[in-house]
Amino acid sequence: MKQVLAGLLLCVLATPALAQVTVLTAHRIHTMDTNQPQAQAMAYDASGKILALGDAASLLQRYPAARRLDVGAATVVPGLIDAHGHLPSLGMSFLRVDLNGTRSKEEILTRLKTFAATLPKGAWLTGRGWDQNDWPEQAFPTAADLDAAFPDRPIWLRRVDGHAGWANSAALRAVKRDLSGSWQPDGGVIRRDARGRPDGVFIDNAMDLMDATVPAPDAATLEHALELAMHAAVADGLTGVHDAGITLEELRAYQHLADQGKLPLRVYAMAFGDGPALDWLCANGLYRHPSGRLQMRTVKLFADGALGSRGAALLQDYSDDHGNRGLYVTSPEAMAAATAKARRCGVQVATHAIGDRGIRMTLDAYAHALGTDSGSDHRWRIEHVQVLAPEDLPRLVQLHLVASMQPTHATSDMPWAEARLGPQRVVWAYAWRKVRDAGVPLALGSDFPVESPDPRLGLYAAVTREDAQGNPPGGWYPDEKLTAFEALRGFTLGAAYAGFAENEIGSLAVGKRADFVVLAQDPLAVPEAQLRTLAVKATYVDGKPVFEAP
Ligand SMILES: [Zn+2]
Repeated sequence: MKQVLAGLLLCVLATPALAQVTVLTAHRIHTMDTNQPQAQAMAYDASGKILALGDAASLLQRYPAARRLDVGAATVVPGLIDAHGHLPSLGMSFLRVDLNGTRSKEEILTRLKTFAATLPKGAWLTGRGWDQNDWPEQAFPTAADLDAAFPDRPIWLRRVDGHAGWANSAALRAVKRDLSGSWQPDGGVIRRDARGRPDGVFIDNAMDLMDATVPAPDAATLEHALELAMHAAVADGLTGVHDAGITLEELRAYQHLADQGKLPLRVYAMAFGDGPALDWLCANGLYRHPSGRLQMRTVKLFADGALGSRGAALLQDYSDDHGNRGLYVTSPEAMAAATAKARRCGVQVATHAIGDRGIRMTLDAYAHALGTDSGSDHRWRIEHVQVLAPEDLPRLVQLHLVASMQPTHATSDMPWAEARLGPQRVVWAYAWRKVRDAGVPLALGSDFPVESPDPRLGLYAAVTREDAQGNPPGGWYPDEKLTAFEALRGFTLGAAYAGFAENEIGSLAVGKRADFVVLAQDPLAVPEAQLRTLAVKATYVDGKPVFEAP
């Protein structure tokens, strides 16, 4: 009798909660959890907390009143996390002319003219995505290339890697500072013609001169841009993005959206440089929005430039530009000060470092700032780790750093990277296999909008090291390939770890969040070439659909 009563009581108490439970059933669920790598069913509650994983029959028996979500023959994987992207830039790119994929200056002019027709008279025309390496002449452009078609409308076009920009003469005239003479800014280059006048191309820190001239977007435009970017991201299967460097204004825009329940995915934001956003973190402490969709506890620093524009700091000369070893964009002294400040404030550091000299300077700064605490759970990161000096790999291990790498950079850069680096250094470039095998935690991402935000392209690049057409057959420096499982881990649990979130997301396990992607095909079973065309049927965050394929 007592037992029956207790049973009845349990039923009564449990029923309202049970009614809220969802049981998801699929052909296969890859959990990325080593205790239970595969399942056919997953139960989660109304808040999106995972209650159980197992086979369909036993979960349906355990939760008889549950809402059913049967995805049939589809495969479910944990939500994909891009450990390094730029949502504000991606969003603004939807409001600017996209020059990605253009093969000549003529093609660029055609796109500019089409886009200009949509703008008010005299408004700035901004764009991004040109790459002189893709043009027949393979040389930097000049303002004159734009002036005939656009004598009055100011134009400012960032290179595909964001480390150089191209202005027309109307834009040069708008710069407040006197550009005449032969002076150069720290950490940047104003390219000049034979008579010493700026020729229209600005490299690295020199771009600040133009960026300060372009009118800033207002708050409403910024929020609109962020929403566009996040909706694009979830359509590609992303449930989280580490936003690699935002301003306080951008944090405010995210907070405003989060307050209204308008963040469809989790944003792990980094404060941009040693500036107001880091000071805000130091003054207010590590930040987490109550929704769990927005955090900031990291500062993004910059050691050097990029390889494409020869701004990455190398220990030896560029193989295709003797006498040039690239440049630091932050001095070692400023890097030491910023990392020490972050350490005092308990802030995670993530530093852009591409060249072997940039990486070494970052390692020196980290070693100094962390001191005897390098074994603590700091999870300081190096972003990109593109060209590594072999003797520095053990230092990444000793300092307990996370390597945040972008597989599509390798396949985008492989046509010219070896020319920049020569045959010896290139073996240690984009070397995620060496990094991973040394025991360095690997977080994968895309660096969108430098690359596409689509993580399927990253999985494909990590596993094949081939371009979209399958070249070179067998892959570029194929020893560095990851398996599909390792690549998926980098885009899930690896990225979650880099964001201190592996107990919450990154795998599907009891107590974690029901962030997952429904794929038409099984990414761990399809031929590698099909990884880039996996069909995303739906994306769920906290157990709720944030994208469903039409
Ligand atoms: Zn970046």
